[in-house]
Amino acid sequence: SFFDADDYKESAREVLRTVFGHHDFRDQQEKIVTEVLEGRDALVLMPTGGGKSLCYQIPAIVRKGVGIVISPLISLMEDQVSTLNEMGVEAYYLNSSLSREESNEIEAKLRQGQVELLYLAPERLLQPYTLNMLSSIDVSVIAIDEAHCVSRWGPDFRPEYMNLNILSNKFPNVPRIALTATADMESRKIIANELSLKNARVFLSSFDRPNISYEIELKNEDPETQLLNFLERFDIDDSGIIYCLSRKKVEQTAAFLVENGFIAYPYHAGMSSTKRKKVQQHFLQGEGVIVVATIAFGMGIDKPDVRFVGHMDMPKSIESYYQETGRAARDGLAAQAWMLYSRRDSAVLKHLIRKGTRDRTQRKVEEHHIELMLGLCETTRCRREVILSFLDEDSPEYCGNCDVCQGSLEGRELQDVTDEILLYLTAIYKLNQKMSYETVISFLTGDESFRFHEYTSLPLYAQGQGIDSSKWREIHRVALTCGLIQVKFAEGARIALTEKSLKVLDGKDRIYMRLDTSRKMPTLTKKRA
Ligand code: ADP
Ligand code: ZN
Repeated sequence: SFFDADDYKESAREVLRTVFGHHDFRDQQEKIVTEVLEGRDALVLMPTGGGKSLCYQIPAIVRKGVGIVISPLISLMEDQVSTLNEMGVEAYYLNSSLSREESNEIEAKLRQGQVELLYLAPERLLQPYTLNMLSSIDVSVIAIDEAHCVSRWGPDFRPEYMNLNILSNKFPNVPRIALTATADMESRKIIANELSLKNARVFLSSFDRPNISYEIELKNEDPETQLLNFLERFDIDDSGIIYCLSRKKVEQTAAFLVENGFIAYPYHAGMSSTKRKKVQQHFLQGEGVIVVATIAFGMGIDKPDVRFVGHMDMPKSIESYYQETGRAARDGLAAQAWMLYSRRDSAVLKHLIRKGTRDRTQRKVEEHHIELMLGLCETTRCRREVILSFLDEDSPEYCGNCDVCQGSLEGRELQDVTDEILLYLTAIYKLNQKMSYETVISFLTGDESFRFHEYTSLPLYAQGQGIDSSKWREIHRVALTCGLIQVKFAEGARIALTEKSLKVLDGKDRIYMRLDTSRKMPTLTKKRA
């Protein structure tokens, strides 16, 4: 069928109303839908809960042929498909959980043009058999969900995503739309490159969730009491999610909450799927239900009135934290994100990485993300500003809706570390922004492991000797958290300065470090004296 643009818009609006039951498009949804309906590629960056799914579901329904959706998680696919089926949309998924016969049936429907949306994991799509089958039928649109999984330098890397670039050759006339809820500037470029979406228009929404307040607290010897104190702020019928790192702790915490009169259920991947489905049901339908979960919970759970998201342990990256807290308050009303953290948490996470990640580069990347996360926990700046600057979004230095803005650091001892930061930044600059952070630190401390002898005659060499290297690593973390430096993993993990660092180099900005979580360091001036 040959619609013109207005017809497309009209059909899209009609589907929005009749199929999805919404009156209006949100923010950029209509622009995105139109772009895809007109046959062009798009890269969509929208926060969790922003309404990404409609951006490809509507084009898939309006355009002739099947819309293919690539999604990394089976549970996510199942949720989406059953929601679509309830609305009367012919949606299916193909994955390893289906029997041979079930797959055959879906394939027959595909060939008869009876399928509007087909969800697939990347590895399934890339099987020659699947690709051939799909090449022989009409495809309306290809959506690549969770597109940040293509970035080798991100914490959620999925190698099979890198092979998705063959889609541009296999389906040259099919518009492709990549979607993600988290991507900094670097990752955006990587996504566009890796998926061969170089001419795609980029649709960027603000990632700020102003109705979510952020609060991060140091874990003490009795975290369960800390949790109770936090929960006291809520009404009895408020629902929420509490995340823990391990299954054991999930079980313990849920039991603890039940003992204390709450309606709480554990949820983790070690439970049977029937049990997990039950918990989901209680959570979606009940009031005042708390789900205590590992990260296995939440993906695709669409409950608008989640009033709080708590973390009993530090998550592995700011991305994860942002995603997990983003499950709160999709209804736009106020909600609270609250976290307990300790330095031990970061040590435990690093230990898990050393055990679980073989690839050396990947391990470094993951450690880097833990550093950033710890940086967010220990920052003296507005939490929201740090989170958003991590996503390359500018925001005011004061949000008024996080614990730091509300004075949680008042009366605590801070150390002005601007001089140390300056020294670190200068060293990075003098080493031509070519070295890893470990090398910069060994240069500053005059460590014998520093092997680049052409630089040892610089006056800066060994100027940071008065501070031990573990302390310099903290300086490094603070510089990262403040967005003054960047790690270029694609270029041997070299450290580069950002534009923001100019403000510090100008002496216009002071940088502080907390002393309640870290021991005081000798000042450099003292050493020189
Ligand atoms: P994302 O994938 O970006 O996390 P979803 O596509 O799951 O977000 O949408 C989040 C919620 O917003 C869903 O409950 C969805 O029904 C709702 N939603 C999306 N678009 C609209 C709209 N235009 N009007 C009203 N509700 C919408
Ligand atoms: Zn703030």
